[in-house]
Order: sequence, then C-alpha cells, then structure tokens
Amino acid sequence: MVKEKAYAKINLGLDVLRRRADGYHEVKMIMQTVNICDDLTFEQSAESGVHLEIEGADLPTGGDNLICRAAALIMEAGKIAEGVHITLQKRIPIAAGMAGGSADAAAALRGLNRLFGLGYTAQKLRELGVKLGADIPYCIEGGTMLSEGIGEILTALPAPPACHLVVAKPDIDVSTAFVYGNLKADSLPFHPDIDGMAQALAQGNLRGITDKMGNVLETVTEKAYPVITELKTQMCELGAENALMSGSGPTVFGICVKKETAERIAAAIRNKEPACAVFVTSFHNGAKEGL
Ligand code: ATP
Repeated sequence: MVKEKAYAKINLGLDVLRRRADGYHEVKMIMQTVNICDDLTFEQSAESGVHLEIEGADLPTGGDNLICRAAALIMEAGKIAEGVHITLQKRIPIAAGMAGGSADAAAALRGLNRLFGLGYTAQKLRELGVKLGADIPYCIEGGTMLSEGIGEILTALPAPPACHLVVAKPDIDVSTAFVYGNLKADSLPFHPDIDGMAQALAQGNLRGITDKMGNVLETVTEKAYPVITELKTQMCELGAENALMSGSGPTVFGICVKKETAERIAAAIRNKEPACAVFVTSFHNGAKEGL
C-alpha cells in the first residue's frame, strides 16, 4: 500500500495580468502549502478500474472526482491494466480557494507513480496534471512557488520565515468559475507587488511579505460576500500582521508572529456568525514523497 498526503495551499499574492483570447486568465501568484491536509491511500485491486472511497465529506466517488480523473490519466499514460482501490480522508475545506481538489489530484498522480513503479519525473507529472486543472502542476511538489502563465510556469522560491496562521473558511461555497467570470481583468483597481514579495522572500523578511499581500480576486468575492472583509478586519484588529482572502475565496488567512495571537483570533472567530471552519496552522515546505 502507498500513502500520500495532499496539502492545502494559500496564495500570499495573486495577480491577474490579462484575459487571453481563449478565455484563460494569465496569472502571477505566490503559492504556499500549509499544514492542513487530506490523506490518501492506494492499493492494487483484483477488480479492474478505479475505486474511490471517501471519509469526511460528501463528494462524488465516480468520474466527477478529480482523484478518479487523475488516476485514469496516469494509468492510461503508463498502460496500466490492473485496478486500484483509493481511499480519501477529506479535511481540506471544499470550494474554499485552498486547492483541495487539485491537491488530491496531484497526490493521486504521485501515489500511482509509486504504486505502479512508473518512474515519472515531477515535470512529467506536472504535464499530466495541467490537463485537469491549472493549480495541479503546483500541487505536485508544493512548497513556496511563483506560478505564472495559466499556472503551469513554476519557479521555486525560498520558504517564508516560520510564523503562525489562522485560517477561516466561512460556511459558504464559492465557485472559482463565478469569480473569474465576473473579474474585470482589464480594469483592475490595483495590482499586488508580486516581484517585491519574491524579493522579500529571498531576504527572509516577514514584514516585507505581509506588507505586500494582495489578491485581485477579492474585487469580485468580497463584493458578493461581505463576511470576507469582516474576517480580514477582525484578524488585523486582533493582532495579525496582515490578512487576505486565498485564491477565489471565501477562505481568509491571517499571518501572526506568535502562536498565542493566532489562537486568540481563532477563538474569537469560532464564536462568530456565520459559522466558520477555523484552523491554527503553519506553512508546510512541500510534499515530495511520490517522486
Ligand atoms: P481552487 O483553489 O483550486 O479553486 P477550491 O478550493 O476552490 O479549489 P475544491 O475544493 O478543489 O475548490 O473543489 C471545487 C469543486 O471540485 C467541488 O465543488 C467539488 O465538487 C469538485 N471536486 C472534485 N473532486 C474533488 C476532490 N477530490 N476534493 C474536493 N472537491 C472535488
């Protein structure tokens, strides 16, 4: 049996440069894995095909699940005729802007690469993954990365200095397609300084990083869901260095120097309406077991 952990991500910075003629958006993002993860197991099975069992969430177990699609893709590429039994223990909030589905798909590519001894490189797994979703190439290795193009051009960056995070996912589901569909990519009111943040990462300067946090997708999601603004304000008032929406939202994260501060903010948010799933966590520096 092979086991893999699928780590959630946040975006320390997210800029959209333009909307391409083919409808895709060209992005410039700083991605960072965090210590919130799903657990997956992979076992060969006598029955042919892909069989998925899920604990902890009400998600499809058939061809709509990104895990099954990733499994079918890599097994076809590797000409694998045997069957596989996969289990998923879901912990990453769903439709949250934390790339939960993409992280699971990437974990499936790593896990089956090992289970069937395919010997594919990270680059080959990225190429397979991008066929299913723009965040999957990043999720193959995770860690701290600059992501450009539609998400397939990746450059590893130095990890940020150790700190503590409070992560809150309000009890609303936000569709990534809705957010990109309503984004006015050619008339954005601001662009976060992604190059400046990469420089701050190279210098190990936490203040430089938190000062440059920005996400242009907030222009759409915050307008539709004011709770996002409330959460950011609350986190900053209670001592976070800065707070931002992750991805297309609605998850908000705050960066804190001290764990006590993150825990104090988490306790305050747990008493708040609407209900939020709240985590106190930290950065994770990448999952490479399957390569
Ligand atoms: P991103 O940050 O990449 O936009 P997200 O966190 O917003 O991702 P996901 O949690 O990945 O969103 O899920 C989006 C949709 O994908 C869900 O509504 C769900 O129906 C579908 N889905 C398919 N497979 C999975 C999976 N393994 N885990 C979670 N969602 C999945």
